[in-house]
Amino acid sequence: MSIPIITNLMNYLDQSVTAYHAVINAENVLSAKGFQKLAEKEAWDLKPNCKYYMIRGESALAAWQMGDGTTAGVRLIGAHTDSPGLHLKPNAQYSKNDYIQLGVEVYGGPLLASWMDRDLSLAGRVILKDAGQLKIVPFRIDEVLLRVPQLAIHLNREVNDKGLILNKQKHLPPIFTLENLTGDPVDQDLVKILIAQTLQVKKIAIAGWQLECYDTQKANLSGLKQEFLVSGRIDNLTMCHAALNALTSEDYVSPQTSMIALFDNEEIGSSTQNGAASSFIRDIIQRVADTADSKHALQRSLANSVCISADGAHAVHPNYTEYHDPQHAVKLNRGPVIKVNANHRYATSAITSAMFEQLCEDVNIPVQHYIHKTDLPCGSTIGPITASGLGIPVVDVGNAMLSMHSIRETAGVDDHEMMIKVMQQFFTKEDVFSV
Ligand code: ZN
Repeated sequence: MSIPIITNLMNYLDQSVTAYHAVINAENVLSAKGFQKLAEKEAWDLKPNCKYYMIRGESALAAWQMGDGTTAGVRLIGAHTDSPGLHLKPNAQYSKNDYIQLGVEVYGGPLLASWMDRDLSLAGRVILKDAGQLKIVPFRIDEVLLRVPQLAIHLNREVNDKGLILNKQKHLPPIFTLENLTGDPVDQDLVKILIAQTLQVKKIAIAGWQLECYDTQKANLSGLKQEFLVSGRIDNLTMCHAALNALTSEDYVSPQTSMIALFDNEEIGSSTQNGAASSFIRDIIQRVADTADSKHALQRSLANSVCISADGAHAVHPNYTEYHDPQHAVKLNRGPVIKVNANHRYATSAITSAMFEQLCEDVNIPVQHYIHKTDLPCGSTIGPITASGLGIPVVDVGNAMLSMHSIRETAGVDDHEMMIKVMQQFFTKEDVFSV
């Protein structure tokens, strides 16, 4: 019996507690579906209609099914693997009033108050010294380990009227443990000891780590009809999962190449080794285009390419309707959302919007339109970066969600399957600009 897609998504969310884990879990799906792993350092021998994937920097992944070896271009779906949160500082451990705490940095733009009083733990990657080499291994502690307790209302009487103000340096370090009752000093490298114990290696074998806090609460369904999905990292692992499912669910034997790109570091502007502003996807498209053996193959391929940038969209919040444009109030479980911004914070143009709307119509799925309220600064996505970096048309879309960047976000259950269907149609359709 096949697992319902929403259960599959919830498993993916639970297992993908960091961008590294999101990539490992995507890799597992791809290799099970016969996609062949390629190393960037090697020469590639790409064959028409064959399936491949490549990982850069452990936290970004691209996968594709080759076209027929002409300059028919790429149908690209882009999403991102990272989520805002609290990352451990290198010398994290310190003592204060008998507590041992861990210093953290804020990554991206989380809703900080949502990180208070949660059952947190640690995950990320560890660098080991292994037979004269540095080796990277994923790391995760399943048990609840950390907590950032709020100040009691009796000590902060105005908090409900004035809101919770958090100083990032002072108020965010989670509590890790207590000093020894005996008065004996605690080890100064408790994090290293914990890593060594968890990975069952000697302390001396640990060369470094990149760890972040994550919420141990698993994804769940809520609502009278179980119509809501609640979880961490809905932005943007739901779109990574949708793209992955669309690519692996069918055999796309077509002139053009069907490709997904799951970038890291969208939340901090994408200018990293494997963010959307890097050479990552262009380098892959270059190698795919090289198989065409035609003059100006890359430029001709790009001229035939088009991209769907998939990321969260702000659903209208019933308690805060004044923050939404009344003509563009998008709703949960009412279908994919096309996001438009005159200043190109979203990359959608009239033509790519019409293209996406037609894809929805092709598969009988409703579509919604989002505009950020004009007197509020609009967020952005990998869409404009991809459009300018590759010089290809892009449509920015996503599924409606509430509490974006909260440690626990809310989305609509039905929207997920609808988005996958449209993505499948994007890969299947002969000419996406035909009606
Ligand atoms: Zn996002």
